[in-house]
Amino acid sequence: MLDGLREACGVFGIYGHPEAANLTYLGLYALQHRGQESAGIASTDGARVRLYRGMGYVADVFSEPALAGLAGHAAIGHVRYSTAGDSSLQNAQPILIECAHGQIAVCHNGNLVNAGELRDGLVRDGSIFQTSSDTEVLLHLYARSQASTLEDAVIDSIAQVTGAYSLAFLTRDRLMAARDPHGFRPLVLGRLGNAVIVCSETCALDLIGATYERDVEPGELIVVGPSGLRSLRPFPPAPLAHCIFEHVYFSRPDSCVFGRSVNEVRTELGRRLARESAVAADVVVPVPDSGVCAAVGYAEAAGLPMRFGLIRNHYVGRTFIQPQQSIRHFSVKVKLNPVRSILEGQRVVLVDDSIVRGTTSRKIVKMVRAAGARAVHVRVSCPPTISPCFYGVDTPRRSELIAATHSLEEIRRYLGADTLAYLSLDGLLGSVGEQRSAYCTSCYTGRYPVAFPRDAHAYLQLALKPVEEPGTAVAREAGTP
Ligand code: SF4
Repeated sequence: MLDGLREACGVFGIYGHPEAANLTYLGLYALQHRGQESAGIASTDGARVRLYRGMGYVADVFSEPALAGLAGHAAIGHVRYSTAGDSSLQNAQPILIECAHGQIAVCHNGNLVNAGELRDGLVRDGSIFQTSSDTEVLLHLYARSQASTLEDAVIDSIAQVTGAYSLAFLTRDRLMAARDPHGFRPLVLGRLGNAVIVCSETCALDLIGATYERDVEPGELIVVGPSGLRSLRPFPPAPLAHCIFEHVYFSRPDSCVFGRSVNEVRTELGRRLARESAVAADVVVPVPDSGVCAAVGYAEAAGLPMRFGLIRNHYVGRTFIQPQQSIRHFSVKVKLNPVRSILEGQRVVLVDDSIVRGTTSRKIVKMVRAAGARAVHVRVSCPPTISPCFYGVDTPRRSELIAATHSLEEIRRYLGADTLAYLSLDGLLGSVGEQRSAYCTSCYTGRYPVAFPRDAHAYLQLALKPVEEPGTAVAREAGTP
């Protein structure tokens, strides 16, 4: 997805290794897809917590001297894409403070839906905020807690927030990790020798040669310190609401998320899509890279060859400067190039993982046609995205989501496709396994598992237009078989 949703953050933490900061640096490399705006590491040597943060990719932020300055046996790290708060160094994480309970650093993946109200109350009571990030609210609550122990102060602060959070805390002598009771965002526990690791995705464990032990459970707080690892359950249980979009798009296909291989789930999405909306065609072409797994599944189930008819330029980073208006149409071409020898004269099934605004998909369809395709059938491996996310994913406002304001046929015409079909909600839920009710699907249904923030109506902004039930409907050009 080239113009779509963006992930919010990646979290990594390690305790009990002399190279803690270096391993965190590597872990963040593996989690770079979850956030590219800023990166940071906090480490402790048992006496003091040190911090280094910067704007940009992990490789750009850290140098050898920077990592050498992060001595110690424990560290936490973070890659960020802002969903709450501006993109600025001030808002980069970890955030480190010193208060009556001592030094504490925090990394957060998710979004605290009641942060605005809590912040207003704290400011009224005299708190001075350094950032515009929702995560800082947690630290203010922690600093003000009357609890007698550091651990109880952390529990006290987390108990006051609602929404999505996978958190890693670092103090002078311990690492703590917590996951919200709904389990919105992933967080896993691993081991490297005697060292304990927590991180957003298993691909970070693979990179450093660590083994996956288990998921941090929803509502669990893990404390790792000189006396070993303890698991606490201080938060009341809540209905599970794992973000299904982690499987559709966000997580890396080589990760296991919510106990399932992302690659296997995505391939199954493609198989089901093919069964739901078969079309006479010659070749299946993925929109790279995110459409690849679903295209493999589609091709397998449809009995068609899959070919890489679009090649992605991997060297276009976030610093790409938009050219002036007159040559702006190059912005997609600089990222993708069609392969005429594959597309010319063919009836192409173009598989993508989602359509958010539709502007990029429209350019891609045009590009495939210009390369000689006889027909372009767009297939999307999830249902239409009709609602914004409040749980840690950067979503455009409702008015910008093409499926929230247009019918299937209107979208097909806008894209310039011969036919268009999305995977049904049933097909999506069927692909993730047995526990269908354990998933959040709000961006496809508009039904939210945790109450809206107070300004939701302003955020949603438009009266809901009746939306076609995400199903197996196919929009097609008149005369298309
Ligand atoms: S609204 Fe969508 S993106 Fe947000 S947590 Fe739910 S499924 Fe994930």
